[in-house]
Amino acid sequence: MDPSKTAIFASSNAIVNGKLTPATIVVSQETGKITNVLMPGLVDAHVHLNEPGWRTEWEGFETGTRAAAFGGVTTVVDMPLNAIPPTTTVENLKLKVEAAKGQCWVDVGFYGGVIPGNEKDLKDLVREGVRGFKCFLIDSGVEEFPAVSAVDVQKAMEELKDQDTLLMFHAEKLPPLSMSVGDAVLHGDPPMAPKGRLEAYSTFLASRPPAFETYALDEIISAAPIAPNLPLHIVHLSAVQCLPMLKKAQEDGIKITAETCFHYLTLAAEDIKDGDTRHKCCPPIRERANADGLWNALKDGLITTVVSDHSPCTPNLKLVGGGDFFQAWGGISTVGLGLSVLWTEGKKRGVNLCDISRWTSEETAKQVGLLGKKGKIAPGYDADICVFDPDSSFKVTTSEMHFKNKITPYEEKVLDGIVCETWLRGKRIYSKDSGFDEAAGPLGDMLLDKRQEETVPIMTVTASPGESDSKTVGLTAAGSTMEILPN
Ligand SMILES: [Zn+2]
Repeated sequence: MDPSKTAIFASSNAIVNGKLTPATIVVSQETGKITNVLMPGLVDAHVHLNEPGWRTEWEGFETGTRAAAFGGVTTVVDMPLNAIPPTTTVENLKLKVEAAKGQCWVDVGFYGGVIPGNEKDLKDLVREGVRGFKCFLIDSGVEEFPAVSAVDVQKAMEELKDQDTLLMFHAEKLPPLSMSVGDAVLHGDPPMAPKGRLEAYSTFLASRPPAFETYALDEIISAAPIAPNLPLHIVHLSAVQCLPMLKKAQEDGIKITAETCFHYLTLAAEDIKDGDTRHKCCPPIRERANADGLWNALKDGLITTVVSDHSPCTPNLKLVGGGDFFQAWGGISTVGLGLSVLWTEGKKRGVNLCDISRWTSEETAKQVGLLGKKGKIAPGYDADICVFDPDSSFKVTTSEMHFKNKITPYEEKVLDGIVCETWLRGKRIYSKDSGFDEAAGPLGDMLLDKRQEETVPIMTVTASPGESDSKTVGLTAAGSTMEILPN
């Protein structure tokens, strides 16, 4: 984007593709055509960056955040497991922050972990700036981060009930035997042990039925009255069978939200070839009809956020090239591809960029207590901006994968929409034409300030084409102006 040849229009009432919507539009003065759309930088509220410790071989702060910047993501929030040590004490959080410093291309927030026995560390972690907590109701796959029992959840909720934080759940749980031999079997749900060839995706899918998710959700909802003011959140919701339960809980006044992931919305079990373990994740990618239900829940506002759950590993552990779904590491790499992934599928489903921006920027920022600072283009907010060309497309090859291990189920897929530039707090950190700003290096901050709600008023934007040299964008709200200057 050459500022001297560019005009920018911002309006709260633009008609874009037949819809009245707030929009910022970039026009090339050379060609006279609309080229790009400005969006707030994405806030990916669920990534695993795995550093420090031996799993830094899987992903690290430098590569993971570089991949984020490539895709218009300006904030990531790192999960508390897979790094060694896990983020379950203040001491461990400090080690992680130390490891991240100077390596991050985008701003980074951190979640704390709830594991059996660390309830006395939780308030201290809130004080030190974790943006929420995560726990597992089923085996996490890593020994440093054991699953919690109902009693552990109760203890964590007691500790956190008056804290300004968020408690998140990996909501899969093994139903007790009495259930698995009762209704579940009558309804044809398979028991836990795999039945069938281990390379067949259908065998893996059947081993993690929707009942695991509904059973976990039921337990979480039952525990909610222990801490009625504490927001609860379901990470990577996959099974549509959870949706009526979630709706009922919300109607009953329980503070509970849910996210889903790019892959549950855009990939389908029917298309996954035997042995293609790049698609393994937990909970699993389900059938196409299930994805349809997740899209409807997003459109209805029942699910509020979409995240990557970027969770890579090395090719040998992923069994790339064909393998046993049960032996392969579970996790999908998508950080930095999400916007194009969602746009490619979403536009076929009548979704516009405002919807996508709400799910991937505004609502994710709100989830992690960053609204007022991140997730919107508005006065007083960080100038984190994604310049997106929705009409171009590209094929995903290793050169579009900036994460450490170049493995993703989106490889060789053609995606619509290209991120042309990414701006972090007013500085251009990535451009499609000139790459990353290596001279400036990684400029990302650690987001360890307290969680915040939105404090600035809703802005009314007035249409404001650039100055004669087109070097500024004027967004006016209640007398305040934000200017975005070129590098
Ligand atoms: Zn995850």
